[in-house]
Amino acid sequence: MSKAHFQIAVIGSGFAGSLTAMMAHRLGFSTALIERGRHPRFAIGESSTPLANLLLEEIALEYDLPFVRPLCKWGTWQKKLPQLACGLKRGFTFYHHEWGRPFAPDPERRRQLLVGASPNGEIADTHWYRPDFDHYLVESAQKLGVTYLDETELSSISDEPGGMRLAGKRHGQSVKITAEFVIDATGPRGCLFSALGLPEKRFAAFPRTQGLFSHFRNVRPLPEDFTAGQTPPYPPEQAAVHHVFPGGWIWVLKFNNGITSAGVAASERIARGLDFKSGEAAWERLLEQLPSLAEIFDESEAVAPFVSTPMLAFRSRVVSGSRWTLLPSAAGFVDPLLSTGFPLTLLGIARLGRLLRQHWQRPSFHSQLEACSRLTLLELDAAARLVGALYATMDRFDLFKQLSLLYFAAASFSETARRLRKPQLADSFLLCRHPVFGRQLRNFCAAARRPLSSREAAQLNQDIRQAIEPYDVAGLTDNNRHPWYPALSADLSRNAPKLGASEPEIAALLRRCGFRNM
Ligand SMILES: Cc1cc2nc3c(=O)[nH]c(=O)nc-3n(C[C@H](O)[C@H](O)[C@H](O)COP(=O)(O)OP(=O)(O)OC[C@H]3O[C@@H](n4cnc5c(N)ncnc54)[C@H](O)[C@@H]3O)c2cc1C
Repeated sequence: MSKAHFQIAVIGSGFAGSLTAMMAHRLGFSTALIERGRHPRFAIGESSTPLANLLLEEIALEYDLPFVRPLCKWGTWQKKLPQLACGLKRGFTFYHHEWGRPFAPDPERRRQLLVGASPNGEIADTHWYRPDFDHYLVESAQKLGVTYLDETELSSISDEPGGMRLAGKRHGQSVKITAEFVIDATGPRGCLFSALGLPEKRFAAFPRTQGLFSHFRNVRPLPEDFTAGQTPPYPPEQAAVHHVFPGGWIWVLKFNNGITSAGVAASERIARGLDFKSGEAAWERLLEQLPSLAEIFDESEAVAPFVSTPMLAFRSRVVSGSRWTLLPSAAGFVDPLLSTGFPLTLLGIARLGRLLRQHWQRPSFHSQLEACSRLTLLELDAAARLVGALYATMDRFDLFKQLSLLYFAAASFSETARRLRKPQLADSFLLCRHPVFGRQLRNFCAAARRPLSSREAAQLNQDIRQAIEPYDVAGLTDNNRHPWYPALSADLSRNAPKLGASEPEIAALLRRCGFRNM
């Protein structure tokens, strides 16, 4: 039997658990990282964003994790860690499909939206090939000195006066661990949620959705006619590609090892109709109804078992107790749409780091932990509100596009504020605590869920555009660009006053980040 005491026990060694454990170790805590499975292993959740990569970089710098830094950009990743597979992500690509009809490109691009996130490949975002990415991080954690216990099945966790007690088995031997604080990084409906019998609270105004996904080989490129012979702001497949249809959407993410991640998230009505539980057969039934996608996948083969998730969204009612907390990724999950999972998780990790650094064993610890937990739920709710409104408008693509721009405006404003070292200008995901933007976001999402006449929908479109304008640092309100938005340095320079920044400050920022339009 092995028995041990740690100040901090992190359960779950996905990227979030390993990062958190390394952060705690760097802060001087004795730290254990406990994993049920074994790396390398399949994991879903792959597409990063500019904000997520910036947060990852900030964590790497703040906690002296230099081996994490190359992973924050495509260029450095390729130079320093080419052995870890990943995908190049220059932006977010959306195509709108109708059931039973081939995708119809039109010169006015009514059925598409392309939002560039980086001006060149060098500083672009990535899709993380999680078997490699997570394995690298867990190995790095071990090298740093974190105690790692994989293949450990925890059978009981209790919050007792002397500390948290964890008991289970590893390789047939009993394991007993006591910890002063436990951090759950096991994902939705995870370890502490089950062990402590925490209550779930569904997201308000969010549809019931299901997911079905796998990894594939031999996925064809998008047909050239998707761009109707015009030159897009970036190659549309070097992106998170979203194929939206009424009631759901398919993601397609290409890695540089020949593997493509693809899957569908859809309303329960669609998922039941296609019987997502049946895995590959359901995937084929779905593609039969989306002929352009059927062509792209017609020679593909799944290289991992299909995973079906009957309840995709999840929200715990409670996020922390006196001696434990759930990371945001264990506290809730909305949907892969807009890749909100990584930034929400990384924001939570960064806050937890500050909490441990500044308040550990101080009387303020519990009130600060509660404040972090409230913010976690507020941010998850804001993401759910927006993605819920997007589900409600998947058959009204004009409105869907405009609502998406709320996300892109808030994300680019927040990223730039942080890069200018003015994080106080954007202290919450989707600016949900911002007194003006936060309220407008709530109102627009509520309005978009209602049935609207075409006049009302056009008015809402217009209202959203106006509301975005004061925060738009990325040319998203320039009607001449719609619906192709390149990432241009000139937009940041022009919009410097919105961030209270001077042009030289923006120029310095652009130089620091390698932001050059090529
Ligand atoms: C279908 C889908 C697509 C997504 N796509 C995106 C995306 O494109 N972009 C994005 O930003 N986010 C996405 N997400 C969200 C993203 O997956 C999560 O934010 C991310 O995986 C969180 O990482 P993690 O390390 O917390 O959890 P995970 O990657 O889930 O890792 C949890 C770890 O905990 C271990 N574990 C589980 N239970 C126990 C236990 N009882 N004891 C010990 N160990 C345990 C598991 O084995 C695993 O290794 C997606 C989510 C889903 C469901």
